[in-house]
Amino acid sequence: MLEVQELVGGYGATPVLHQVSLTVPDSSVVALLGANGAGKSTTLRMISGLLRPTSGSVTFDGVEMTSMRPAARVQRGLCHLPEGRGVFPSLSVRENLVLFSPKGQEADSFDAAVEAFPILGERRKQLAGTLSGGEQQMLTLARAYVSRPKIVLVDEASLGLAPLIVDAIFEFLERMVAEGMSLLIVEQYVQRALAIASTVNVLHKGEIVWTGPSADLDQDMLFALYAGESVAGRTS
Ligand code: ATP
Repeated sequence: MLEVQELVGGYGATPVLHQVSLTVPDSSVVALLGANGAGKSTTLRMISGLLRPTSGSVTFDGVEMTSMRPAARVQRGLCHLPEGRGVFPSLSVRENLVLFSPKGQEADSFDAAVEAFPILGERRKQLAGTLSGGEQQMLTLARAYVSRPKIVLVDEASLGLAPLIVDAIFEFLERMVAEGMSLLIVEQYVQRALAIASTVNVLHKGEIVWTGPSADLDQDMLFALYAGESVAGRTS
C-alpha cells in the first residue's frame, strides 16, 4: 500500500503541489487525472524521489520513504516510468530486458516479456534506439515488468501512440495488475484510465479536488473538475 500524505513542493519558491494526499492499495489501479500543468508528473516525481517535497510524506508498505534516494525506493519495489521512453538506446532489446531481470532469471524474464509483446522477440537483436516509438514504449513497460516491482507509477504510457499499440499497452497494464502489481497511472486517454482504475484522484492547480470510485465520475464532471468548478459528490 502506497500512502501519500499532504505533499507540498515544486521547482522553486512557488509550490506546485498543495497538500496532495492519495492512497494506492495493494493490487489495485488508481488514476491521477487533471488538465495540463495540474501537477500530475510532479506528484509522481515526488513519490519516486526525483523531487523532494518541502513537506508531507510518502509511505510504502509501512516504510516511510520521504527522504530515501530514488534507488532505495526502486529496491523496495517502487518503479517510476516517466513520460517519454526510458530505454538504453545503444543496447539491444534483449540486453535492455536482461539488465532489469532478477539474477538467474534472465531467460524466463525474457520469455515472459516476449510472450506479452511478441514484436520484442522479433526485434531481440535490434538496438533499442532504432525501435519505433510504440516498440520503445512496449520495451519500457516490459523492462519494468521483468524487474517485478510491487507498484509502478506510469506517466502517460500511451502518449503519441497509435490506437492498436495503446490497446496492447493497456492489456499489458491489466496483466501486471492480475499478477499482483499496483499501478498509479497518469493518462491522457481518460476513458481508458477510467476503464482500468478502481479509484480516481483529480488534481487541479496542485490540489486534489475529487477522489472517489471511477464509476462515480462521468465526462461532464471531469470537464468541470478540470476547469476548476466544484462538483457534487466530492469524497476526498
Ligand atoms: P502535463 O499533462 O502537461 O504534463 P502535469 O499535470 O503533469 O501536466 P506537471 O508537469 O507536474 O503537470 O507541471 C506542474 C507545474 O509545474 C506546471 O506549471 C509546470 O510548468 C511546472 N513544472 C513542471 N516541470 C518543471 C520544471 N522542471 N521546472 C520548473 N517548473 C516545472
